[in-house]
Amino acid sequence: MSPVDPTAPYDDNNIFAKILRGELPCTKVYEDEWAFAFEDIAPVAPIHVLVVPKGKYVSWDDFSVNAPAEEIAGFVRAVGKIAREKDLVEVGYRLINNIGPNGGQLVPHLHVHLLGGRVMGSMLT
Ligand code: 5GP
Repeated sequence: MSPVDPTAPYDDNNIFAKILRGELPCTKVYEDEWAFAFEDIAPVAPIHVLVVPKGKYVSWDDFSVNAPAEEIAGFVRAVGKIAREKDLVEVGYRLINNIGPNGGQLVPHLHVHLLGGRVMGSMLT
């Protein structure tokens, strides 16, 4: 996969769009009005969930500028709810959102990585 251009128009054929439409399989973790979550195909932690908004947003930048406030709130609350359902609040967890080429984003549909189940290393490199 090539790095994502975060300024490009939304591509309806991206992998996560196909997962959302049920055209590609996934291991579903959570779904509500605003968000859909599934296990990452190449997990880097015992819990590695990808949370995507149901709306069509390329990146965090696109989402934060263009999504209605209700949709942003619904998505953020869904991420927190998944962490609680996974009993991660007390032990802690990590949220990552990669944006564009320097951020390491490979799939052009906004997704938050929710990582848990182990102690995380430093993120400062
Ligand atoms: P990014 O680098 O865009 O932030 O992360 C993309 C993530 O999507 C990677 O962690 C990768 O393992 C995951 N991924 C890529 N293709 C698929 C797929 O077809 N199914 C699932 N479940 N995860 C995928």
